[in-house]
Amino acid sequence: MNILIVGSGGRESAFAYKIAQSPKLTNLFIAPGNAGTEQYGKNVNLKVTDFEGIASFSLENNIEIILVGPEEPLVKGIHDYFLGREDIKHIAVIGPRQLGAQLEGSKDFSKEFMFRHNIPTAAYKSFNQSNLEEGLAYLETQKLPIVLKADGLAAGKGVLICETLEDAKAELKAMIADAKFGAASSVVVIEEFLKGIELSVFVLTDGESYKVLPSAKDYKRIGEGDTGLNTGGMGSISPVPFANEEFLSKVEERIIKPTVEGLKKDNIPYKGFIFIGLMNVDSEPFVIEYNVRMGDPETESVLPRIESDLVDLLEGVAKGDLASRSYTVSPKTAVTVMLVSGGYPGDYESGKVISNIENVKESIVFHAGTKEVNGEVVTAGGRVIAVTTLQDDLFSALQQATADAGRIFYQGKYFRTDIGFDLI
Ligand code: ATP
Repeated sequence: MNILIVGSGGRESAFAYKIAQSPKLTNLFIAPGNAGTEQYGKNVNLKVTDFEGIASFSLENNIEIILVGPEEPLVKGIHDYFLGREDIKHIAVIGPRQLGAQLEGSKDFSKEFMFRHNIPTAAYKSFNQSNLEEGLAYLETQKLPIVLKADGLAAGKGVLICETLEDAKAELKAMIADAKFGAASSVVVIEEFLKGIELSVFVLTDGESYKVLPSAKDYKRIGEGDTGLNTGGMGSISPVPFANEEFLSKVEERIIKPTVEGLKKDNIPYKGFIFIGLMNVDSEPFVIEYNVRMGDPETESVLPRIESDLVDLLEGVAKGDLASRSYTVSPKTAVTVMLVSGGYPGDYESGKVISNIENVKESIVFHAGTKEVNGEVVTAGGRVIAVTTLQDDLFSALQQATADAGRIFYQGKYFRTDIGFDLI
């Protein structure tokens, strides 16, 4: 089978690594990929939103499955584009159609969905320019802190946690009246603050049945002890020690089943991954957000733990017989440490030569922001490389991944040495 992965980050490197192990694979392509994905397949110089280019390439290369990594092409309708053209509609796209992608593309849509299907989530109300005054009055009735969320995609920056009423009112005005996040904040969800500990659960569904993938926890802040600025993610672990069997069965019964059933009831066909961001509030799960794709760097911890053939599972999604596909997970613990460019998430320099990757023997090296220039691998982004190791316990995994992160060199390299340490 010929497969095309769309995307270029650490997540797509992890997909490529896992798919390349499949006996069912004939040719693997990654569009656009990075310097590391070349070891698993062939990079194709196409933008992730160039649907026409992706379609032509897929036809020329007999692609049977397209696995979409990031949310942007999904929210922009790549799946609908393929279904809408006679010559390419036989190619299976893994990832929801535009309507399903609204679970991530619109916070108001996803909150309405959760309330309609009795899925536990924080209380909320949505406001826009026409009822901004009501929104300001509503804030006065709410407990602090309070959470304001831009409805649309805002590159992970559209969520504000306000500690004071003045701050909340000023931010609500800035978001709606002054378009603080552009069109994304023309609608704002005001949401109750949930106090707890976060984790993520991932589901693969063909729209009828589902497989619950390993749970993971990511570390978002740049500094040790989870301090400092937010980033795209500095590391992750899987499984999550506090997500025991009892908690995960609550997640499955109260959240996963009603989510998959809810999509069916609402006539939203959905073939792909669902990333459920959860808050564990005194051992009770609440949904913080849905994403319609896998997380990065969570994928780098989750996929190496899946023992089954990922291509077989993707084929199950494409054909609608996922329930009959075998699925097993390793009991080992994965720790992923992200190596970033000095200065990230602020300004940073690119083009630094990366060396000594071959010194890493006990971990998997997933490239993220890297590219090849004149035969050398150089940095080409904020998040550069993800190092993942699988060990019998969290402590050994943390030690191994951290040691291996230290073995790779480039000017300005930075990584956290405490991924998972809070849970040991
Ligand atoms: P991401 O970058 O993870 O995709 P996002 O912009 O889609 O983020 P959310 O995940 O909804 O937004 O929120 C970002 C962060 O804000 C969460 O990871 C969580 O830490 C915090 N947060 C969101 N909603 C709540 C809430 N109701 N109570 C407490 N914290 C919250």
